[in-house]
Amino acid sequence: MNYHDILARIQEEVLPLSNKGKVADYIPQLAKVDPSKFGMYLHLLNGQSYAVGDWEERFSIQSISKVLMLCMAVSKLGEKVYERVNVEPSGDPFNSLVQLEYERGIPRNPFINAGALVITDMLIDAFNDPKQSFLDFTRAVSGHLDVQCNPAVAESERRCGFKNSAIVNLMKSFGNIKNEVDRVLDLYYDFCSVDMNCQQLAQAFCLIANHGRGIVNDQKYLSESQFKRITAIMMTCGFYDEAGEFAFKVGLPGKSGVGGGIIAILPNEFSLAVWSPGLNEKGNSLVGMKALEIFTTQTACSIF
Ligand code: GLU
Repeated sequence: MNYHDILARIQEEVLPLSNKGKVADYIPQLAKVDPSKFGMYLHLLNGQSYAVGDWEERFSIQSISKVLMLCMAVSKLGEKVYERVNVEPSGDPFNSLVQLEYERGIPRNPFINAGALVITDMLIDAFNDPKQSFLDFTRAVSGHLDVQCNPAVAESERRCGFKNSAIVNLMKSFGNIKNEVDRVLDLYYDFCSVDMNCQQLAQAFCLIANHGRGIVNDQKYLSESQFKRITAIMMTCGFYDEAGEFAFKVGLPGKSGVGGGIIAILPNEFSLAVWSPGLNEKGNSLVGMKALEIFTTQTACSIF
């Protein structure tokens, strides 16, 4: 397969669409990003890699960090993680409060904000220095020791995170948050603020493509069953209320973030990161989704 040519053709085809999406502006720091950016990085588990566009430029991974947080929680705490967070698609926006009230403070899944905030609460109890442990984990699985949180992005979100504050407080009222709400929010914003480029992201998520075994250090972080479950949640809940559309058009487990990044994996084969900051009305990268759709259509590489 000539991945080099395929990625080049994808870039050519999607670039005219880059003014169609809208850069997230509810976190002021994200609104400053140039919407014409586009990068893509494919890392095959056989060690080969291919890239186009702005793949070396770092961006805010935002909700993509929720998968790494879940991996850390499950690998440390095991299946009891799922006692405080469900695994059903929400069909609601990522920051919705409505469902949470009906369902008595138990989030629908770990990839909506409510779920990731509960996972953050668990990580506070499970690690002495959870922020450092998260960075250590992300650096170890990606093989990039310079991965960092972005304090300006975290602070920007902290100042405007009224919905997230409401979500944590609501869950606290139902007894599903054990720590101080501000501590949970601060750490959650740090996790979301991590900057990575397409290469670093693709290499980090080889952890999932490789059934929970790090490709850099060969460490087995997730059991087969834990790998299966996390991949299934990516497939069903990784794209806000557009997971069905993503499965339909792309056919890969993945996760997107409001920074315009999307990671998609094919178990045993590859990890593929794409970044384009303009979002569609559901909050997923408009060009990123299109690029992945073309990729799986042209290569016939999907899980189906
Ligand atoms: N930090 C963002 C928030 O909590 C993450 C949103 C996302 O990427 O889905 O709103």
